[in-house]
Amino acid sequence: MTKRIVVLGGGTAGTMVANKLARQLSAPIGNKEVEVTLVSNAEKHIYQPGYLYIAFNEKMPEHFVRKEKELVHRNVNLVFDDVVRIDSEANKLVSDKASYPYDYLVVATGSYPDFDSIPGLKEAAHDFYTLEGAIKLRDALASFEGGTILLTVDVPHKCPAAPLEITLMMEDYFARRGIRDRVKIVYTYPINRIHSLEPIARWAEPAFEKRNIIAETFFNLEKIDPERKVAITMDGEEHAFDLLISVPAHKGAPVILNSGIGDETGFIPTDRYTLKMEGSDNIYVIGDATNLPISKAGSTAHYQSETLVPNLISRINGISETAHYNGKVACFLENSLHDASMITFDYTHPPQPATTSELLHWFKGVYNEIYWLNVRGIM
Ligand SMILES: Cc1cc2nc3c(=O)[nH]c(=O)nc-3n(C[C@H](O)[C@H](O)[C@H](O)COP(=O)(O)OP(=O)(O)OC[C@H]3O[C@@H](n4cnc5c(N)ncnc54)[C@H](O)[C@@H]3O)c2cc1C
Repeated sequence: MTKRIVVLGGGTAGTMVANKLARQLSAPIGNKEVEVTLVSNAEKHIYQPGYLYIAFNEKMPEHFVRKEKELVHRNVNLVFDDVVRIDSEANKLVSDKASYPYDYLVVATGSYPDFDSIPGLKEAAHDFYTLEGAIKLRDALASFEGGTILLTVDVPHKCPAAPLEITLMMEDYFARRGIRDRVKIVYTYPINRIHSLEPIARWAEPAFEKRNIIAETFFNLEKIDPERKVAITMDGEEHAFDLLISVPAHKGAPVILNSGIGDETGFIPTDRYTLKMEGSDNIYVIGDATNLPISKAGSTAHYQSETLVPNLISRINGISETAHYNGKVACFLENSLHDASMITFDYTHPPQPATTSELLHWFKGVYNEIYWLNVRGIM
């Protein structure tokens, strides 16, 4: 009987996993022993790190968008559908128009910024975590001639480095436009330092100091007053802004909550080594959808796929699963519009930012292009 692998979610993680399975299982797929189905509700695939470059008009939005069907290997049965429930008892996905039975399920439904998490945020804040947000922010920054830019961050959110990166890039952007002295940049963070990972906080602090970027720590938003252009924190302080940029707390996809398999914010309890959903032997979780206390990043999904794909192939072949995810993450850290650092870390090795250089910024630009090979499962 055909073994059915279903991947739910056609973003970075799901597309990569489906393509790798399709390439590595081409013989059993050809013999109809295995079927790989990718179910996604998005026909467009967006490379989200591109939002940073859209905001500074470094690249046009379409540079970072492809049709999902053009990225998916011919051995994958690609279906566009909005799944409303994962029925883990009956081993099937359910949508309003169909159901998708599986023997093995890979959940790759990602995470999303919850702009409803803080009153007033939706009305007042710009963002660079959505395509529309990045385009609007580009236009707002281009017409900004001076005043206070306030950046607020809530956790958890994907790409933990992105708020620091946009702040440092923005400083360079206004310096290049010759109006840096007219722009007050205020970066805020909810804990006692400017990043949750101490080595990254230590890496950014000297740049903040040297480039006159103001940092406010223990900054926890309670609400925004859009009319008065004021952010109000939980301790009752008011912070005026001319332009507000916010990274709200993220949640897991609604289908996870609807299916009763997530925690209260929609992230799935996941074994940190096997990437199986806790309590399940045939549901795997990858990318932003897990509840693992590691960076929600495309690189995380990439390294997780190196565990998940061989383990699934072992199961198809009736062999024990031997690959373990070690928590590996790799990220470039933009320091400006022309230089960057880089970090790699895992469960046991903390990050140590590399010396900032123009070469690393160039490498990030190169990766932004080779992503399309990566997600096809070629690299
Ligand atoms: C500004 C910014 C900068 C970033 N920079 C970096 C970086 O430099 N390096 C890095 O590694 N990462 C970076 N990231 C993070 C990276 O983009 C994400 O971590 C990555 O996309 C997560 O992949 P994913 O597949 O888990 O989720 P996603 O890519 O978000 O994909 C989830 C998919 O699931 C689909 N889906 C959800 N629910 C359903 C449903 N009910 N039915 C069907 N389909 C569904 C969605 O449509 C989507 O296609 C950045 C992100 C942002 C926003």
